[in-house]
Amino acid sequence: MDAADLDSDLSHVLFTERQIRSRLRQIAGDIERDYEGKDLLLVGILRGAVMVMSDLARLLHRHVEMDWMAISSYGSGTASSGVVRILKDLDTDITDRHVLVVDEIIDTGLTLSWLTSSLSSRNPASVAICTLLRKPEAQRREVDVRYVGFDIPDEFVVGYGLDYAERYRNLRDIATLAPHVYS
Ligand code: IMP
Ligand code: MG
Repeated sequence: MDAADLDSDLSHVLFTERQIRSRLRQIAGDIERDYEGKDLLLVGILRGAVMVMSDLARLLHRHVEMDWMAISSYGSGTASSGVVRILKDLDTDITDRHVLVVDEIIDTGLTLSWLTSSLSSRNPASVAICTLLRKPEAQRREVDVRYVGFDIPDEFVVGYGLDYAERYRNLRDIATLAPHVYS
C-alpha cells in the first residue's frame, strides 16, 4: 500500500520508502566495513523486521546467512515488561558466529536487551543490534545498539513492517496514525 491508499488514516508520513532505502544503503556500507573478512548471520525478529531484513540483506554486497526468531513479551497492554518468551527459536547454532540482530523499532529496549543477553549465553563470536527506528526511551537507557536508521519522537508509527492491530505492515512508508483510528 501507498500512503495515498490510506490518506484519511494517516496523520503524517515520517519516512518515505525512498528515504528508508537510502538510509539502509548507508547502514549496509557500515556493516560491510565492520564485518569485513568475518562470516555474518543476520537474525530477523518476526514479524515486524521482515521488510527491514529483506531490504537490508539485498543491499549488502557480500554473503550473509539469515535466520529468524519470534518473541513475545509476557502480559497485556502496550507497555513492554521485559519478560520475554521465545515463540520461535533459531534453527542455526550460533556458537562462534557473528550475529547481527535486525529489528524494526526499539522503544524501551527491554525486549532486545533480554534477547541479546540470551543469545550471548550461547557463545557466539559477537552479538550486535541493528534497528531501523529508535524511540527516546531506548536512548535514555543507553541500550547498546550498533546501527540505528532513524531516531524518532515518542509517537506511535506504522508501516514498513510496523503494525497497529496487525494492520499497516504492508504500507511502503513509515507514518503516524490519525487519532480517529485509535478510537
Ligand atoms: P521494546 O523496545 O521492548 O519496548 O519493544 C519494542 C516492540 O514494541 C517493537 O518490536 C514493536 O513490536 C513494538 N512497538 C514499539 N513502538 C511501536 C510503534 O510505534 N509502532 C508499532 N510497534 C511498536
Ligand atoms: Mg518487533
